[in-house]
Formats: sequence, C-alpha cells, structure tokens
Amino acid sequence: MKRELGIARCGLACCLCSENVACAGCDSGQCPDTDRCENRKCSLAKSLAHCYECPEPCRNGILSKIKPYAFTEFARRYGEEHLLDCLARNEQNGVVYHREGLNGDYDDFNDVEELIEYIRTGKR
Ligand code: SF4
Ligand code: SF4
Repeated sequence: MKRELGIARCGLACCLCSENVACAGCDSGQCPDTDRCENRKCSLAKSLAHCYECPEPCRNGILSKIKPYAFTEFARRYGEEHLLDCLARNEQNGVVYHREGLNGDYDDFNDVEELIEYIRTGKR
C-alpha cells in the first residue's frame, strides 16, 4: 500500500489501486478517468478536496458505484486517517483491493452498511 497516495476525491483508494504504478493519484491528473470524471470536476468547482467533505447527499458520477460511495461515507463518518488505518490492517490480513482487473474483495457487496462494517472490522 502506498499510503501517501491516500484516498481520491471520489473515495477510491489510490493508495491500493493497481494503476498506482503509473498514476500518482487523482490530483496528479494521471487517473485514467481524469478528463471525464464528474466528481473531480464538481469537487474542484466547490473547492473541496474530497467528496466526503461535501454536505450534499450525492450519488453522482462514480459515487453511483458501491465501493467509492461506501469509502466516501466511511471517511465522512470516521475520517480519512482511520480509513487508511483500516485498509492497511485489512491488506496485511489478506484483503485484496484489486484482485481481477479493478475488482477485488471490497466489490463483493450489495449493501453499503455491510461494506462499511467490512472496512471497519475486516470481517464479514
Ligand atoms: S475516478 Fe475521478 S475522483 Fe476518482 S480517482 Fe479518478 S479522477 Fe479522481
Ligand atoms: S456534489 Fe457530489 S460530486 Fe460534487 S463534491 Fe459533492 S459529493 Fe462530490
């Protein structure tokens, strides 16, 4: 895990992303989705560093997907540092962020609260 890359504007974990060999995170402009990313554009326009700092309930753009949405909600509730601590502990315990392509162990959920609990406890 490259902890220094942190969490992207949308909530995706740049620190664990398999693209992070060539991409230094959302704000580097190197994310493959940079040009078409609604969340990047919108948070920049609102002068916010992340969607988790935004007061508006929102499922726009990539937040329509459960993983970035749950990560965003987690960071909103417990803070980015705690999210990074949990992701590091889970990784050490064998949880894989990108197992096949862009899918991994955090993608196998249909319920946001269950995913938030999985991040928090590492157990399901
Ligand atoms: S999808 Fe958008 S917000 Fe997420 S890392 Fe890429 S550019 Fe950043
Ligand atoms: S409105 Fe949505 S996309 Fe825009 S900054 Fe807030 S949470 Fe992010």
